[in-house]
Parts: sequence; C-alpha cells; structure tokens
Amino acid sequence: MPLLLDGNRVRDEIKGELKPRVDALVREHGRAPGLAVVLVGADPASAIYVRNKIKACHDLGIYSESITPSAAITTEELLAIVEGLNARDEIDGILVQLPLPKQVDAKRILLAISPEKDVDGFHPFNVGALVAGLPAPRACTPAGIIELLKRNGIAIAGKRAVVVGRSDIVGKPAAMLLLHEHATVTICHSKTPDLPGVCREADILVAAIGRAAMITGDFIKPGAAVVDVGTNHIADRAEAARIFRNSPEKLAAFDKKGSVLVGDVDPIDVVERAGAYSPVPGGVGPLTIAMLMANTVAAAARRLAARQVC
Ligand code: NAP
Repeated sequence: MPLLLDGNRVRDEIKGELKPRVDALVREHGRAPGLAVVLVGADPASAIYVRNKIKACHDLGIYSESITPSAAITTEELLAIVEGLNARDEIDGILVQLPLPKQVDAKRILLAISPEKDVDGFHPFNVGALVAGLPAPRACTPAGIIELLKRNGIAIAGKRAVVVGRSDIVGKPAAMLLLHEHATVTICHSKTPDLPGVCREADILVAAIGRAAMITGDFIKPGAAVVDVGTNHIADRAEAARIFRNSPEKLAAFDKKGSVLVGDVDPIDVVERAGAYSPVPGGVGPLTIAMLMANTVAAAARRLAARQVC
C-alpha cells in the first residue's frame, strides 16, 4: 500500500505548534492575532469555507471577525471595507473570500489589501517576494502542499516535480515553492502536449486542475508521490460509478446525497501506482486553513515586533 499523505494529521500537528505561539503573543503583547474574513453574498460553498476558517481561529485563540456584505456590493463599497480593515491595528490578516460577484473588480480589491495583512499571499508584492525567496505570506494551498510532503518525509531536493495547472493561486506558487525546495519543476496546462508522458516523468506529481479523476494510472510513474489538490463536486451517477468502481460504500453515499467530492486524481489508480498520495477529502484541503492560520500568526508576530521597535 502507498503512504497516505494524511492532511488532517499534518493540520493537527501545525495547529499544535501554532497554539503556543498565539499564547506567547498574547502574553508578550497583550492581544491575540486578528483575522478579518470578508464574505460577499451567500454562496453556500464559500460560507462553509469561511465557517471553517473562523472555527480554526477559535480553536487557536486567534481573534476573528467576519464581514458579510450583500452580493449587490460595488467595487467602491468593498474597497472602503478593505481600507477600513487596513487601518485597524488589531487586524493582522485580511482575507476576501473568492469568488467575488461579477460587478466587483476582484483585481482592484486584492491590490487594495495591505501586503503585510495579505494572509492569502495573493498580492503582487507577496508574489514577488515568493519569486525572490523573501519572507512574506505564501499562498496557503501551495504552502500546505510543501508541508504535507516534508512532514511525511518525502524528499523534494533533486526530484522531478510536475505541477498540472498554472493558476495564480495554486499551480504557479506551488511550482515556485517546489523550485525553492530544489526540485526540477515542470508546469503543465491545457495546451501541454502528451500530458500523460510529461506527468510520468514526475517523482512528485501535483494535480491542480479542477477535473474529476482526470489523472489516471497512465499519468503516474510507479512509486511517485501524488498530491491531489482538486475539489470537484460531481452529481452525475454514471461518473460517480466509474470513479468509485470498486467502492460500493462511496456509491451508496453518493446515492444518499446526490453528489460526491472527488479530486483530480483517479482514487483507485493512484493507490495501485503511487508510492504516496493525498486523498480527497482529507489531503490538501485541511492544510489550506492550517497555513492561513500560520500566515495570520506570522503577520501578527511581524507587526507586533515592528510596533515594539517603533
Ligand atoms: P483554475 O484556476 O481553474 O486552473 C486550472 C488549471 O488547470 C489551469 O491552468 C488549466 O490550464 C489547467 N487545466 C484545465 N484542464 C486541463 C487539462 N485538460 N489538461 C491540463 N491542464 C488543464 O483552478 P485552481 O483555482 O488552480 O484550482 C484547481 C483545483 O484545485 C480546483 O478543483 C479547485 O477547486 C481546487 N482547489 C483546492 C483547494 C484546497 O484547499 N483543497 C484550494 C484551491 C483550489 P489553462 O491555464 O491552460 O487553462
């Protein structure tokens, strides 16, 4: 059996390390780190993500605040909310939950977040710091991928890593972090010819595509570490029956709920071919929130230390 890259275990480990750091900040500076989450509208999936983020803050003793403007908000109104949060001393991290409604200029909003409070690591200043290898908040999901690999003893230096997906929030930063860990990195996308052949060169294969079970056995080098970032909700029974062809329990769960969450990697093939793999759910997902907490604590520590110097 391949090694299971258990995201829940690594998340708990990281949270266990963060708690004493939060307590120390409270002791030394008289206040906890603070995170503000802005959730525009009532998208149910976004609401669940935000609830989980707030719960994680609560577990660690991080002050959290959620701001929930209506879906009809304008860019200018949302900019005013962000500016207000930028100015508040007790708020160390600002997260604007994506996606934003169509009428809102998401780029302007992300640019308006003060880079030192950009705990998502999406601001161009912080992307530049990532490329330059300077300390700054790193995008949470890619940072979680690195933690998942390292804390499971998967060697990265000198390995061939292939990242499928080139988004600004996952694929590109994941590739850059793997490069900083001294992997030889290839980034693939929808125009990459012979994708299975390129993926088969990977000792470490990261799938961040958004296509249910697209990465089948012929993409996987035997023994590779496969990290599945994909979160795809499928509602088609034939597709569920294909993906969970040897799992009557999963199909029964699908029949009960009418949908199921699957990754970008075929869950049966990966067990047969990989040396290590992250499941969906329970792999990368839990780490995204853990790294958000880590970024918030680090932002608070930086800001509070700077205040002391001043
Ligand atoms: P995205 O912005 O849609 O990017 C998808 C990438 O996959 C693009 O670069 C696209 O190529 C590439 N792609 C699409 N179809 C392909 C194909 N047939 N062959 C090769 N490449 C293909 O998605 P994202 O935001 O990066 O997210 C990717 C997945 O990760 C989604 O399922 C998302 O829900 C999930 N996710 C999970 C977490 C978590 O915490 N677990 C966090 C973030 C995202 P082009 O650039 O050429 O179009």
